[in-house]
Amino acid sequence: MIDADEMPELPDPFDIAPVRLTVDLSALAENWRDMAKRSGSARTAAVVKADAYGLGLEDCGTTLYEAGARDFFVAVVQEGVTLRAYAPDARIFVLSGIWPGQERMFFENDLVPVIASEEQLAFWMGVIAELGDYPCALQVDTGFNRLGLPLQDALALAEDVSRPASFSPVLVLSHLHSGDAPSAPSNKAQLESFRQVSAAFEGIESSLSASAGIFLGPDYHFDLTRPGIALYGGEAVGGMKPLRPVATAAARIVQIREAAAGGTVSYGATYQLARPSRLAIASVGYADGYLRSLSGSGVPLRAGGTAGGYGYVAGHRVPVVGRVTMDLTIFDVTDVPEGAVNAGDYVELFGPNIPVDDVARAAGTIGYEMLTGLGLRHERRYLEAE
Ligand SMILES: *Cc1c(COP(=O)(O)O)cnc(C)c1O
Repeated sequence: MIDADEMPELPDPFDIAPVRLTVDLSALAENWRDMAKRSGSARTAAVVKADAYGLGLEDCGTTLYEAGARDFFVAVVQEGVTLRAYAPDARIFVLSGIWPGQERMFFENDLVPVIASEEQLAFWMGVIAELGDYPCALQVDTGFNRLGLPLQDALALAEDVSRPASFSPVLVLSHLHSGDAPSAPSNKAQLESFRQVSAAFEGIESSLSASAGIFLGPDYHFDLTRPGIALYGGEAVGGMKPLRPVATAAARIVQIREAAAGGTVSYGATYQLARPSRLAIASVGYADGYLRSLSGSGVPLRAGGTAGGYGYVAGHRVPVVGRVTMDLTIFDVTDVPEGAVNAGDYVELFGPNIPVDDVARAAGTIGYEMLTGLGLRHERRYLEAE
């Protein structure tokens, strides 16, 4: 029999976590204030969909509220219900709108549906005819072809004198498809279309810009801006230096192993060691959102190579070698001085030394996907906002 009293105390889960995610809440608050300043005279919302871009709705929502955000956007109603506890008197918009059966969730949590299609509009008119006045927002499509009423239908709705008096939109919005490419002519075209919408719904607030659009200048700000990725330290505009990094992911090194020249690494033996090497086996894999496409440089995944991912440990950038596996990834630490990196150390996956967007580029994706795909095994720690 093992005597439990003889065993060591349970450690702080973060101290022994296979993968760690550290979220710097003061950087998040500072990034929101930065975007608010850039938004000029427009009010600045906070987009917190997908669990605040994977970083935690409770802590991020609370921090953004305390920083001063009073308008929030979520993607689906359940996110709005969760957020309500942390943003008591804020306006919470639900971007995917409302479905039959969700009425109570909206009304009891004071959530504002963003009506995004003719079908939703017809349903909504029925709801308010029965239940009375309740705010909504209207999304208008100006070229994205994702969500939103067609432009002409929206303009007609604005002029429709026969629409019910209880129909009371508080916001009209649209979304740029190429805001991250400042020279794209479509930005101006979408701006012109949205100006018509904004004018037609005179007296109702309007909103066009997500993070990227805010950088296009005051013409794009209207009454309310909707930054997301920039708050979390991701690149809003391709190649532009992001605001302060917010998220740091790190994986525990399970073992350091010496491997002979000529040996191969990981599944499929796709990588052959050219020299005697020291390898760090880290506790992170594609089940943690460390994408398989981050496998070593030139390593075929099925067909075709990749740029190859890398980590950061003991002051060195260390490349991934061989394929990323479900729970483990192999970094080549041969160039790190012997003894400087040991089992139990943590290798940074992204954070202050490796911008999340650089990792994303190596994986053939974007920072948004890295952050929202982090998976369930990350032990989170929040550095409190001051
Ligand atoms: C996700 C989203 C945003 C935020 O976009 P970022 O690029 O993360 O700033 C704003 N508006 C809408 C409609 C969105 O779907």
